[in-house]
Amino acid sequence: MELWQELLRRSIDSGKDLVERFNFNPELAVKLNKLFHIRINPYYLSLIRYPGDPIWLQCIPDEKELHEDSFPEDPLNEERDSPVPSITHRYPDRVLFLVTSQCSMYCRFCTRKRKVGDSTKINMKYIQDGIDYIASHKEVRDVILSGGDPLMLTDHMLEKILKALREIPHLEIIRLGTKMPCVLPQRITKKLCSMLKKYHPIYVNTHFNHPWECTQEAKQSCEMLADSGCVVGNQTVLMKNINDNPDTMLELMRKLLTMRVRPYYIYQADITKGANYFRTPVKVGLEIMDKLRGHTSGLAIPQFVIDAPGGGGKIPLLPQYVVGRNGNDIILRNYKYDIYTYPDVEEKPINTVGNRVKTTKTKTIKKEPIEV
Ligand SMILES: *Cc1c(COP(=O)(O)O)cnc(C)c1O
Ligand code: SF4
Repeated sequence: MELWQELLRRSIDSGKDLVERFNFNPELAVKLNKLFHIRINPYYLSLIRYPGDPIWLQCIPDEKELHEDSFPEDPLNEERDSPVPSITHRYPDRVLFLVTSQCSMYCRFCTRKRKVGDSTKINMKYIQDGIDYIASHKEVRDVILSGGDPLMLTDHMLEKILKALREIPHLEIIRLGTKMPCVLPQRITKKLCSMLKKYHPIYVNTHFNHPWECTQEAKQSCEMLADSGCVVGNQTVLMKNINDNPDTMLELMRKLLTMRVRPYYIYQADITKGANYFRTPVKVGLEIMDKLRGHTSGLAIPQFVIDAPGGGGKIPLLPQYVVGRNGNDIILRNYKYDIYTYPDVEEKPINTVGNRVKTTKTKTIKKEPIEV
């Protein structure tokens, strides 16, 4: 047994464990585990510094999960765009491919609570259907292996899938959506990396939400992936009392860059039943973006997106930088809220020979709360 499998085996994995380790009321623990499986592996558990801290909130269930009956189980309407059970085909040229229901830690905010942790809903018998679907749809040039966590599969099983995908001539890139570098970095082994190497181009998108997750072990796992030629990105979910302030996000994004991980998305939290209590006002995300752009490396700045309820896909949101127009001029503000004018190109041809364009700073406006 490999170390990561040994760690998994020692996970908190039931309502009973919660009662024993965290003094949960037995009835409550059973209800919570039924609603969404509990699993916390010993590595992630060791990152908790005190009860209720940003690590705790992500992995220890909360009674609030039980009181959200008015929210949808499938807010992104993934089922509607699902031609076979393992595939969501929403965008023209790429698909999401669910290859396992299992994760090494079940995040209490998971948007796919309706399926994740339930092996009757995502399982091996659907994998061949998914591969066949991609093979018979020439427009699919990008596949995202997800679940659950695709790195819960053994190297052998994962390689079988990668090999079959690489036999599809129109498929250009493969992405792995995995939380392992964050929640169980021991999963990233030399053996795994040398296997992945054979199936490039592979893009790995991982999922860190808080600077405390950026440990030495996590860093090493990201470096191993990068050394093996994978391009590593990160998505973060914006969540109340976890990372809903600019200082925490800035620190996280900078740390990720030192781990050779490029921030990709910050998600506004979905309205998923049983995970709704993590949501923050959209304004908080915009304020964070405002405090990133210009204040740190452009490389550290992901896109802030809302995955539209009902299945509209990801929609990017930005603070307002265009503050007005004056004839042909666009009035802009920079990260310091100084005002600049950019003379736009007129649509009808004009004689501008010899005219040098000058941009001038005209005034500074007061920092104001961002209107949404
Ligand atoms: C997020 C997502 C993708 C990938 O979107 P990108 O913007 O290309 O990263 C593809 N399919 C579905 C259903 C998604 O939710
Ligand atoms: S790792 Fe991803 S799929 Fe698994 S519980 Fe967390 S958010 Fe959900």
